[in-house]
Amino acid sequence: MLGAPSDSRGCFFVLPFPKCAGPPPGIRFAYAAMNRPYPRASSSLLVTGGAGYIGSHTLVELLAAGYRPIVLDNFSNSSSETLRRVEALAGKTLTAIEGDIGDGELLRGIFAEQARQGRPISGVIHFAGLKAVGESVEQPLRYYRNNVSGTLVLLAAMDAADVRHIVFSSSATVYRASAALPYTEDHTLGPANPYGRTKAMVEQILRDWSACDRGRRVACLRYFNPIGAHPSGRIGEAPQGVPNNLFPYITQVALGARPRLHIFGNDYPTPDGTGVRDYVHVVDLARAHVKAVEYLEQVTEGFTPINLGTGRGTSVLELVQMFERVTGVSIPREIQARRPGDIAEAYADPARATALLRWRATRTLEDMCADGWRWQSRNPKGYGP
Ligand code: NAD
Ligand code: UDP
Repeated sequence: MLGAPSDSRGCFFVLPFPKCAGPPPGIRFAYAAMNRPYPRASSSLLVTGGAGYIGSHTLVELLAAGYRPIVLDNFSNSSSETLRRVEALAGKTLTAIEGDIGDGELLRGIFAEQARQGRPISGVIHFAGLKAVGESVEQPLRYYRNNVSGTLVLLAAMDAADVRHIVFSSSATVYRASAALPYTEDHTLGPANPYGRTKAMVEQILRDWSACDRGRRVACLRYFNPIGAHPSGRIGEAPQGVPNNLFPYITQVALGARPRLHIFGNDYPTPDGTGVRDYVHVVDLARAHVKAVEYLEQVTEGFTPINLGTGRGTSVLELVQMFERVTGVSIPREIQARRPGDIAEAYADPARATALLRWRATRTLEDMCADGWRWQSRNPKGYGP
């Protein structure tokens, strides 16, 4: 089913469905390169949102571990170039389907086709979602539709295909802001914005979904602050427009693309007055997903929330100073008023991830700065031309 090479990098457009049946509506392409056998080729994993920042790093780790990921992404916040680079990094084939998680017919077609090919989908890693807090305040219905309704459609298609394992991208933003730190998974939930509420709602849906069938398993991964990039400098975070988050803003100031960093508040009750967060290297985070997939194959527990963080808090000023030290680039900055909705401090208790997944973050803040800067300085326009 391979078509002609579509470009000089050796990627191929393929039809993932038999020609007589035709691809279901929504599938525009899938592509593959460098056909190599998969040790775990008897089944597949559906990776929604796999072309995004965390998804792409996870694909590299899944491919290295011998999994056969099938990517579903609508490229609303990513580009297919990312997937070409993932293939090149991993030296392995990737099947990618352009489409939306809200398209139930497309999803049913993907599950059916993988089963027909003798590699049924055994589980889903569900990254697909909109993630900008400010945008979610302005466009709440878009967020609820994409993140919550989209997940309902995905779960219905999983049910129809009898797929019962899912790893979900949740967030530390589901926790209620409080001085009781670090956050354990039992900390009270209380998200402060529509984005966070979509995550908390999906968590509740997954709890209920797993409770009514003993075979269903959910690893609900609550990320703290993923930053950095693959050490190759080939894939990384590529926000569209003005970055909302601190680290990509710093790297864009370092590039000269923005004049200075605005530090949102220096009057918090923290050691230097600036906000404290738990920054975790995206490659560490990616590896936790491989562990989570393996965990779901072994456990009897239905729904398991798991924090992914280092357990260490770093202030805005500490991160900026570390970035300057590691890269030798100075970051002009000015103090501004607090950003509405921000909290002083948040960091994880990552003990459960260590106990259940046998995972702990190993990369340092220096690694995060060096790898993030390598990516940004070599790709000043992200994945763009
Ligand atoms: P990202 O925007 O880079 O990746 C998300 C991917 O999902 C993108 O490729 C986008 O095109 C795709 N997508 C969005 N809606 C879709 C839909 N309806 N159908 C198909 N594809 C769709 O974001 P990321 O940083 O990689 O985050 C991945 C997940 O982790 C998200 O669910 C996000 O909310 C969550 N998360 C991220 C962070 C963070 O700081 N990056 C922190 C906590 C949680
Ligand atoms: N921050 C900042 N300037 C920016 C972006 C963020 O000072 O341009 C601060 C923000 O107030 C918070 C920390 O950096 O204290 C981390 O913010 P980010 O948006 O990256 O993560 P989140 O607040 O979602 O944990």
